[in-house]
Amino acid sequence: MRAVRLLVTAGPTREYIDPVRYLSNDSSGQMGVCIAEAARGRGMRVTLVHGPLAVAQPAGVRAVEVVSAAEMLAACEELWPRHDALVMAAAVADYAPARRAKCKRKKYAGELVLRLRPTPDILARLAAARRADQVVVGFALEDRAARARAARKLESKKLDAIVLNTLAAIGAERSAIEILIRDGGWRVLPRATKKRQAEEVVRLVELLRGERRAPSKDRSG
Ligand code: C5P
Repeated sequence: MRAVRLLVTAGPTREYIDPVRYLSNDSSGQMGVCIAEAARGRGMRVTLVHGPLAVAQPAGVRAVEVVSAAEMLAACEELWPRHDALVMAAAVADYAPARRAKCKRKKYAGELVLRLRPTPDILARLAAARRADQVVVGFALEDRAARARAARKLESKKLDAIVLNTLAAIGAERSAIEILIRDGGWRVLPRATKKRQAEEVVRLVELLRGERRAPSKDRSG
């Protein structure tokens, strides 16, 4: 049987205002990198599309470096048809400046108003474009009404599962996560290293992938 081809995204994106300043998210990329490593350890063929990382790039995986959400979307759209599963762990910026200034903006006294545009929802786009045999797992970082919001995201983005994180996970070595599986309810994973949590996420991908391949349980996406 051929190896599962897994597409993982990690790290923040940067949306440049001018050549020096940018909007971004507080994300080290560690979770996505751990998932890529765990998947490689399980014999998967891994492609990691990542923004600027605060941790080392993993060995033994194909890495594609991007900066902005638009670049991440372009890279992922190109790669997605050749993969069996997607784990979207990247902290994609929700907004980007409507215009990027060519030169460094000058500082003036008084308020500065920036016009922002929503970035494309990469996860929703890839999930909408998937084949019936492809598995899609998303992430959610929530500080209020967390489970309800994550459940809404699972539905609206048409995911197979969503991993719910809290703000305490940012930059931390350990995290507690909960995973909502479509038609499967919540699984609570107590505080553990991100390496350990990543192994659970990869095991889940294997499980979901197995279900997708079994004709009797095949669902159209
Ligand atoms: O809607 P929200 O940003 O909370 O959803 C989080 C999930 O969606 C994460 O898996 C994240 O990687 C993905 N996402 C995306 N494109 C965006 C924003 C979020 O793929 N523009």
